[in-house]
Amino acid sequence: MESALLAWFQRSGRDLPWRRTRDPYAILVSEVMLQQTQVARVVPRYLAWLERWPTVEALAAASPADVILEWQGLGYNRRALNLHRAARAVAEGGWPDDLTELPGVGRYTAAAIRRFALEEDVLPVDVNVARVQRRTGHAFSPAAAAALMDLGATICLARIPRCDACPLATPCPSRGVREEPLRKQGPFEGSFRQRRAVALRSVSREPTPLRLLDGDAVVALERDGLVVVRDGVVALPA
Ligand code: SF4
Repeated sequence: MESALLAWFQRSGRDLPWRRTRDPYAILVSEVMLQQTQVARVVPRYLAWLERWPTVEALAAASPADVILEWQGLGYNRRALNLHRAARAVAEGGWPDDLTELPGVGRYTAAAIRRFALEEDVLPVDVNVARVQRRTGHAFSPAAAAALMDLGATICLARIPRCDACPLATPCPSRGVREEPLRKQGPFEGSFRQRRAVALRSVSREPTPLRLLDGDAVVALERDGLVVVRDGVVALPA
């Protein structure tokens, strides 16, 4: 089954910029951006980020305010601060053996860096990889990581898999089976997440009096280190 998958990947795999590098910093940036943002939106932002801060030392030397501003539009802004903190930790002490010691780096992101940057024998299992493994019942090797991700993202889709276009259709026991996704993310519109985003956007333009902002959203942003409140004025951290 794996050889059919790899042959398909050779023909139809996505050409993504982070697949052309083995730099752990670049892989970290891509993985953190991809944690909650779609690939098509990440690609231009990843390229711009790497152009502005091409090395972990360059990012470590940036101010938190610049990092938050550069992240605007990608959502879940805490990721930006964690990425910045991780860069500072690496610039100071090097890459730790246990990558999950870095802020914002969980088991999946650590495994992705180990696989795609360090070429270690680990399979990073994201939702796409987990779905393909579950549906096919096959234990793929780490060499199939990128191919599994692409199959899960473009063919073996969560709700309506495109089994007619799948290179694994013949042996797959789940061929033709549809399933409802287990959970859907709530709507952004009207959510607390949106209220936070509106407040942060305002503060990103210029320091803003607290009384003009959504107080609860500012409290949450301040708790995450995304803004500072001083003398009744909310600003990005210096
Ligand atoms: S045959 Fe269908 S369910 Fe099986 S791996 Fe391919 S797309 Fe997924």
